[in-house]
Amino acid sequence: AAKGAGKNQVTVYTDRLRSERQDYAQTVAGLRRALKDDGFVLHYQPLVELATGAVRGVEALLRWTPPGQRPVPPDAFIPIAEQSGLIGAIGDWVLRRACTEARPWYEQHGTTVSVNVAGPQLRDPGFPDTVLQVLHDTGLPPRALTLEITETDLVATTMAEADEVVARLVKIREWGVRVAIDDFGTGYSSLSYLRQLPVDILKIDRAFIPPDRGDAGFRPDDLTLTRAIVDLGASLRLTTVAEGVETAGQAELLRRLNCSLVQGYHFYRPMPALELAAVLTGPVAVAA
Ligand code: C2E
Ligand code: MG
Ligand code: MG
Ligand code: MG
Repeated sequence: AAKGAGKNQVTVYTDRLRSERQDYAQTVAGLRRALKDDGFVLHYQPLVELATGAVRGVEALLRWTPPGQRPVPPDAFIPIAEQSGLIGAIGDWVLRRACTEARPWYEQHGTTVSVNVAGPQLRDPGFPDTVLQVLHDTGLPPRALTLEITETDLVATTMAEADEVVARLVKIREWGVRVAIDDFGTGYSSLSYLRQLPVDILKIDRAFIPPDRGDAGFRPDDLTLTRAIVDLGASLRLTTVAEGVETAGQAELLRRLNCSLVQGYHFYRPMPALELAAVLTGPVAVAA
């Protein structure tokens, strides 16, 4: 019986491997097709200035709906794009599309655009040239662009590679492009390392926004951590952005802690370019 069960487990295991491999292959094929057939779109989520309620910038977020299927979330397909080597072409497409769509927003409203950049893009020596070329082709001024890089991608490389990535960012920043550390607090960068990084903006991961317990208020321990991260950003003279702000109470709390910008469902969800254009031309919608 034991032998039979063991054999069964092996069968289940290999079946699962086989189906995972099929999922992977199908996703890669789907991503390739999307690149060829214009199958991606960008949504944009406003970054709101807490002091005024004004939209200061937007983050471009990639959306993919394979024909006849439901949308696939980026957390599900970006890692596969990275593994398969497709992230280079996808990242180029995202950067070009975002800069193209954002140019009138910047010209008319001073709204900047943030683009997520994956680890393999940063490790590509040609990345700075790509950025320069896209800015040139689209006419977006460098100061209107922010590149978002996760803390993990900055740290999870060899030391030599990290040095090269930093050198690339230094170069890009000299043109006036800003750099943001995304998902801050979820990686393992030491504070001394953080101080050396060529960054302008600290995006606090939503894991550090305290749960809003309504009348029960915020847990003091949660508050201590949030305040510590906001203060860290301020002491390094970085702009702090809080991600995942879902309630009025959280917005008020962050305002009190002197966090400059927020992003979250309480203010706006990511939306198509056309909807965003209407938000930007409309009145200041939500004063915090
Ligand atoms: P991220 O860069 O940290 O983007 C923020 C994510 O939080 C987005 O998820 C956004 O929709 C979500 N979000 C915003 N406000 C709230 C809120 O109030 N509550 C909650 N629960 N979530 C909120 P999304 O669009 O699913 O993207 C997930 C991740 O996928 C992004 O995290 C980013 O790491 C990656 N990603 C998205 N687009 C791109 C891209 O063009 N290139 C690369 N390399 N990565 C991308
Ligand atoms: Mg981001
Ligand atoms: Mg983030
Ligand atoms: Mg993220």
